[in-house]
Amino acid sequence: MENRTYTTDAAPGDTVTVAGWVHEIRDLGGIAFLILRDTTGKIQVKFEKDEMDDDLVETGLNVQRESVISVTGDVEEEPRAPTGVEVTPESVDVISEADPELPLDPSGKVDAELPTRLDNRTLDLRKDEVKAIFEIRAEVLRSVREAFRDLNCTEINTPKIVATGTEGGTELFPITYFGQEAFMNQSPQLFKQLMVGSGLERVFEIGPIFRAEEHNTPRHLNEATSIDFESAFYDHTEAMDACEHVVRSAYEGVAENCQDELEALGLEDEFAAPEGDFPRLTYEDALNRINATGELDEPLVWGDDLSTEAEHVLGQEVGEHYFITDWPSEIKPFYIKDHDDDEEVSTGFDMMHPSMELVSGGQREHRFDHLVEGFEQQGLDPEAFEYYTKMFKYGMPPHAGWGLGGERLIMTMLGLENIREAVLFPRDRQRLSP
Ligand code: ATP
Ligand code: MG
Repeated sequence: MENRTYTTDAAPGDTVTVAGWVHEIRDLGGIAFLILRDTTGKIQVKFEKDEMDDDLVETGLNVQRESVISVTGDVEEEPRAPTGVEVTPESVDVISEADPELPLDPSGKVDAELPTRLDNRTLDLRKDEVKAIFEIRAEVLRSVREAFRDLNCTEINTPKIVATGTEGGTELFPITYFGQEAFMNQSPQLFKQLMVGSGLERVFEIGPIFRAEEHNTPRHLNEATSIDFESAFYDHTEAMDACEHVVRSAYEGVAENCQDELEALGLEDEFAAPEGDFPRLTYEDALNRINATGELDEPLVWGDDLSTEAEHVLGQEVGEHYFITDWPSEIKPFYIKDHDDDEEVSTGFDMMHPSMELVSGGQREHRFDHLVEGFEQQGLDPEAFEYYTKMFKYGMPPHAGWGLGGERLIMTMLGLENIREAVLFPRDRQRLSP
């Protein structure tokens, strides 16, 4: 639109055309105010009924809330206006009239349940605090990409339609691919590993992962965004260093560039990037600390996965981001390398926020014979993965990496109660549209 001025840029003395949505109309009798909202903020438009053209007043005050309009007029200082300035209109143009029956109230005066909000995301994102989540999400992805660049990574994109799953047959969405069975990919795991053996060596990918999670939970999606990293000649400790750098950078980016958004969410005082190194506990330490609290009905024993409850108990104990290392080999996937001096213990690690798991990673098995053995032990057919295993015969360096759940990072960063708050159009058991 030619000559459009954003509301926040309208300065006293200017003649401007502002355009956006009708946020509110307040009619006080002889004088009335229309609050116009755009992506940058809001501005007051003043109608003095006796001094203005009747048509102009009528157009401005009869328009439905949430209609799109443009207003041309002079900007003046007005300390009583919400932003300290107001526009006296010379003309008002109704560009797109809104139906008076709104399915959702963008002014937030009437609360809406999450399903109603998700059904009407366009209107939902007209609210400052909802829009703020997605501005922050964009900043997280920007800072994460920058952090990967610090680490000299190359960004890659791998297929999401695949012939086989990574983590066995469960949680896979089957699709039909020209009459042949195929699946939506659960993870870029195998592809990113293949790239560390290429000339690229160190790669990252930000892309969708698809998981047919059986249950609706506040922290699982059926389509999520995975932030994946993999590097040649890295061991699991170096991969953890990289993970810490990336997560910290995301927080720092938000702290630096999203003050207004944090304010919209009421987080401006409490938001802070994690300080110091993330503690690294072994799985055994973790079990001991959990069991010592006596909060679980049954103490955990070696080989148990950590339940949601166990994660909470430990998270309360540690109280900051932390790693759990040296997991039992039997509960980590086939591609994770075991320790050379104890094959019962793997190099797999998880990175945890006090409330939930954010990352799984580890050093990978790069020795062809061990890899094929691992497939067989997990009951997988190595032949189905020949495209992958084959490349381990032609010079595959030792390597390590991890996958970070993008929505979980944003959810925990902002203290959101439900992961769906961090996705524009979430996919869950009930929701396939919009
Ligand atoms: P969980 O046990 O919490 O379901 P997972 O161990 O099955 O997670 P991984 O396969 O380790 O998940 O995936 C790596 C990361 O991707 C997880 O730590 C998490 O942050 C994210 N992630 C995995 N599955 C989902 C999902 N269904 N929804 C949202 N994020 C997910
Ligand atoms: Mg995991």
